Amino acid sequence: MLNKARLLTPGPTAIPDEVRLALAQPMIHHRKAAFHSLMADCQEKLQTLFGTKQPVLPLSCSGTGAMTAAVYSLFAPGDKVLVIDAGKFGERWGNICRARGLEVVTLSVEWGLAASPEDVEQMLHDEPGIKGVFVQLSETSTGVLHPVEDIAAKVAGTDALLIVDGVSGVSLSPCPMDAWGIDCLVTGSQKGLMLPPGMAFLALSERAWERCLPDPGCFYFNLPAERKKLEKGETNFTSPVNLIQGLKVSLDMLLQDGLEAHFHKQWALTQLVRRSVRAMGLNPFVTRNYAWGLTSVLIPDGIDGIKVVKDCADNHGVFLAGGQDFLKGRIVRLAHMGWADWSDLLAGLYALQRSIIDNGGFSGSHDFLEQGMASYRAAMEGETGKEPLDPHD
Ligand SMILES: *Cc1c(COP(=O)(O)O)cnc(C)c1O
Repeated sequence: MLNKARLLTPGPTAIPDEVRLALAQPMIHHRKAAFHSLMADCQEKLQTLFGTKQPVLPLSCSGTGAMTAAVYSLFAPGDKVLVIDAGKFGERWGNICRARGLEVVTLSVEWGLAASPEDVEQMLHDEPGIKGVFVQLSETSTGVLHPVEDIAAKVAGTDALLIVDGVSGVSLSPCPMDAWGIDCLVTGSQKGLMLPPGMAFLALSERAWERCLPDPGCFYFNLPAERKKLEKGETNFTSPVNLIQGLKVSLDMLLQDGLEAHFHKQWALTQLVRRSVRAMGLNPFVTRNYAWGLTSVLIPDGIDGIKVVKDCADNHGVFLAGGQDFLKGRIVRLAHMGWADWSDLLAGLYALQRSIIDNGGFSGSHDFLEQGMASYRAAMEGETGKEPLDPHD
């Protein structure tokens, strides 16, 4: 293979050399001093990343493990909860809650749209006794960014806890846990954090800690026990030592110029991709409330999106993700998470355009590079969250 492989998938994502070298360090023992200081260093930075004063627990599992830990620790069978379901990952919250024996009320949102805070408020009003509200920060199956801050404001006055799956959102767009009033925030290692898969992170608010069940009904995920060990700089069971060595370096890199600067870059990359896609005569699947780490692109009718994804990999070394469920073949998901920069994205966008043309598709203008980069520069110079003026939109 002559091409450099570019992983533009929504997890796992590319890993910087600095992190890969850190992963290769000699093993250290997880109950000795060197590890304790490594954990202390990471803890402070994880709290900055989560925007919380609460401990951020590192867990040895994928993101779904942390989701499971949250459900089992905070809710007992029979509890009534509200799940916001706008795609595959919203559906997953529902599945985990049902596995725990919870009574699940679902707020179904059309795929590609974000949840409305007013609808959440209405559901909480119509369904008395709801003990928890579950949502994604970014719904990875569509590329939607839910308005978590506004949803949190609606949940705040009620008895319900707000549990946020930030696996594809934390470190990509703002989600300050304490300031927004989130009761539980989880994320994973393999998306915005520029690490291999295998680790997840979870933090609880003060009131969520108070509601933690003494018996979560499973032996492995015991959050109060994890918290106690974390005070000593340890985890309850054997730690994923080398992942934590890598984590220290990835957090140093992410926070190097401050979190705001990092979000700003993510915002600008999103503008680059959206503008380029439009310049090609294609459309982003999500038109409003879009994520800052992932853009879904609608594939023109008559073209097989699965073939397009395969051709991008086979012919250009660019790895994209297809659509899930009924969006299979109809969208292509291009992630711009973590270590992806403008040049990776230009390569990815070129591969996408070329593959669509090769599969008989209409192509728009070929100057997506100029237009995309103009948007990127304007977004870098402008304000985060404010779309640069775009006569073509
Ligand atoms: C990737 C992802 C997860 C976790 O998936 P794992 O395979 O368990 O790591 C959960 N939620 C969202 C929104 C995701 O994007």
